[in-house]
Amino acid sequence: MAGYRMRALSWWVTLPDLEIGNESVFDRIRQRAETFARANADTAVIFGAHFRWDFLPFWDILHDYLKETARILDEYGIQLFDHHSCTLIHRYNNPAEVRELMFKYMRHLPFPPSREAAASWSFNGERLDSWRMIDRRTDAPAYVRQYSADMFCFNNPGFRKAYRKYLQRLLPETGIRGLMCDDMIYFGGFYQCSCPHCRAKLKFELPPASDTSFWGNWGNPRWIGYLRMRRESVGEFMKYVKASLPENFPLMSCCTSGAYGGNNCNAQSPHEFLRGDNRLNLEICGNEPGDVPERLASCSYHAGISKKYHVPVTAIGYGFFPDSAEHLWALNHLNGFSTWFSTLKGNLGLSGELLKELPDDASPVARAFAFEKAHPELFSGELRSACAVYFSETTKTDSFFGACETGSTLDYRELMSHLSRAGIPAETIFSFPENASGIPCVFLPSAAVMTPEEKSGMEQYLASGGKVFSFGPENLTGMPQHPDGSFEDLHWLQHQQFGYSGKDEWVKLRNGFFRNLSRRPSGIMELVHQHGARLPEIRAEGFAVSLRGNTAHLLALDYDIQLHPLDRSRKQRSSVDLIEHAFVRNTAARIYTDRAVEKVFCPLGGSALIRQNVIELSGNPMYLILCFQEKNTGPRK
Ligand SMILES: [Zn+2]
Repeated sequence: MAGYRMRALSWWVTLPDLEIGNESVFDRIRQRAETFARANADTAVIFGAHFRWDFLPFWDILHDYLKETARILDEYGIQLFDHHSCTLIHRYNNPAEVRELMFKYMRHLPFPPSREAAASWSFNGERLDSWRMIDRRTDAPAYVRQYSADMFCFNNPGFRKAYRKYLQRLLPETGIRGLMCDDMIYFGGFYQCSCPHCRAKLKFELPPASDTSFWGNWGNPRWIGYLRMRRESVGEFMKYVKASLPENFPLMSCCTSGAYGGNNCNAQSPHEFLRGDNRLNLEICGNEPGDVPERLASCSYHAGISKKYHVPVTAIGYGFFPDSAEHLWALNHLNGFSTWFSTLKGNLGLSGELLKELPDDASPVARAFAFEKAHPELFSGELRSACAVYFSETTKTDSFFGACETGSTLDYRELMSHLSRAGIPAETIFSFPENASGIPCVFLPSAAVMTPEEKSGMEQYLASGGKVFSFGPENLTGMPQHPDGSFEDLHWLQHQQFGYSGKDEWVKLRNGFFRNLSRRPSGIMELVHQHGARLPEIRAEGFAVSLRGNTAHLLALDYDIQLHPLDRSRKQRSSVDLIEHAFVRNTAARIYTDRAVEKVFCPLGGSALIRQNVIELSGNPMYLILCFQEKNTGPRK
């Protein structure tokens, strides 16, 4: 299963696509299917008609469209996955708001009902409105302002049964081959949900929102329990969704990287998703290319989850031109992920006429997918790493230091970025290996809270000969446990200061265990070289390096970005700019390695020449794949 791969593209559904009485709708499906086939995609994922409950009166029409799409794509050997929001419903409060909503969220194909009409909508014998999440601040239905949406609570038994019933219609009526069940988090933040079903899962009465001894106080065990209840509720629901589908039916949920303290706000946890999901999604938000070392750090978190649970990752990223699509594809291969490339034209704020000047949805990734299809052997090997970095979930969830973006998760990401800038392949782990045979050393960044099980796992690893380099605060003594000012405004999330400083000095405390009190310790590279796994040595300035089986994958870290002229005409801004070109910069012209290299591929342009143990580059390749000689892989004389 972990070796499962896909080459996926978004299949956008717009309002004219649903005019199913019009023959041209089906012609357009076929035309687009041909572009997908030419781009060597094997999977199409629905985008649009997203807030699925808002389409309740039109499910017959939508399902007819999906069925025809699935049937035609099947002729081209492409599988159709559905992708919809299971929980969010667009709701507006006045005509100006609905106009803004339909401008900003055209990608959801919003045709939101009025509140008055929606109040009488029912399904499976229950009113939809009765399933809504409740906000503890108002004890009224929670409003998710960023999406102009209300939201259903996945702890509501009526909602659960209704969603199961919907799935039992969706599959036979459409022939979809997989499902992305979205928005399985508490989207509106910490104060959700205080509905009776969520409250019943707590062993205490949920305090009023004014009670600062509870809300945002990581020193209060009840608060930790409330956060845990929310995470576990997501896992329980995904287990229920899985049980509502045929065995082994592909299932995933939208998931951004777990390498951020902000995960606490909405209770997102890949560990919980995987109680139901058999595929892991990673949504790479923002520009492609973006901050590559930061991306590599957040991807490494997902690669670690993938290895721990033996589940494949499909990562979605956004762009409009080949440089973005290809960079996403290469970034994914460095982490062992499949690629789902998507345009996001509805977010550009450009008229339909101007959008026609942009490439179609499939062609930007065509060259990359063709290469992947022709060379599966280059992408199938296990990832190899020089060292492991321990991500402390317990610190992230159970401490204020972990919940802030300035706390423990920052220390993890900075270490990962540092390692990728130095060209060192490192992997993320969430529990200690049983012994040191595969991973000789582990870095432990700012793991201020560890459970007894984690501690005993570490002792076992040390006893087997492993080395642990622990740094940052040892515990939370003297550290703030809650924001000084307002908890509700979330200012603390990005700006909290901890006033911690520790001496930057590695001290051997006992056999195999080393401590450094600094959050930014020096000497990391020396420690990796001295204690890390012996891997092929590659010196390639400006590239991140990943080793897979008998290959090395190198991705350029820095780019000059050139926007398309239409970017200036946009009537709305989003996190994705209209990037036309990404020019590689600050990469070495020569790469040195201590192993015999048989072949070098530059799948995204540029070229390379092998001269003994030096590889000479020309044309600034973004992505290189080195294949080592199968036999005699020892160091060159
Ligand atoms: Zn609830």
